[in-house]
Amino acid sequence: MSIRLPKFLMFLTLLFPALPASALQVEASLKPLQLVAAALVDGLAEPGLLVPPEASPHHYALKPSEMRRIAAADLVIWVGPELELFLVKPLQQTEAHILQLMDGEPGADEDAHRHEGEDGHHHDVDAHIWMDPALMLEAAQKMRDALIDIAPEHGDRVAANYDRFAAALLARDKDLRQRLAPLRDRGFFVFHDAYSRFVEHYGLRQLGYFTVDPGRQPGARHLGEIRSQLADQEAVCVFSEPQFRAAVVEAVTSGTSVRHGELDPLARDIASGPDAYLLYLDALAGEFERCLNAG
Ligand SMILES: [Zn+2]
Repeated sequence: MSIRLPKFLMFLTLLFPALPASALQVEASLKPLQLVAAALVDGLAEPGLLVPPEASPHHYALKPSEMRRIAAADLVIWVGPELELFLVKPLQQTEAHILQLMDGEPGADEDAHRHEGEDGHHHDVDAHIWMDPALMLEAAQKMRDALIDIAPEHGDRVAANYDRFAAALLARDKDLRQRLAPLRDRGFFVFHDAYSRFVEHYGLRQLGYFTVDPGRQPGARHLGEIRSQLADQEAVCVFSEPQFRAAVVEAVTSGTSVRHGELDPLARDIASGPDAYLLYLDALAGEFERCLNAG
């Protein structure tokens, strides 16, 4: 905390005049993690973001400026090698405190369970942990503890921020559970395998996904299977994502009455701030409601 170049400190102070000169430097790998971190350091710092939300964390190359931010950070928050493989090496080269939110070995803890897909195959664990509000409450606890460790002088503020965030998250979660309960029998497909934790948490009826890896085109046979399930009217909605062209979704759904929705796995349109993660959950739930409420 205390080892800083004076010039850089002055620059920071110019950028964030409202923040103390000793502002914590927190970097999050992904936007949804940045939103949770923003609640924890509210009034103390503005967490940085390493992967822009229009890029895919499954395939990313850090820019030199992002490498420098990792080197200068007090705390770097990431999911783990299952998701941001490109961070493994840079994180070995920084003195920053590293907070890895997901355990390395699937099966090593109960959160990292493997689940069985609709097709009976075992898929690797879904690393999109920010889709589960209960896991993000745990993540916020870990962030609180790490921040108090790193900057005990801000401990009271961080602890109060955590308490406020936890209470608001629990209330929002209860609200979303009520809103989504009537939609539990409505089948749908998602574009990539990023939502299973949200779907399981709220008991929704996901029939499948187009692709595990959003960078890879789904195979013709898999698309044929989805199309015949759509023809059987098992699904009322198909969700695409803003990061990827929806052409394949259009092609598969043409001639059917299935509705189109769009889910954003990376919270692209949510501005960072202390309530931003709650707004993001709200936006996800709202899109499920809009698309699944098809009369
Ligand atoms: Zn993903």
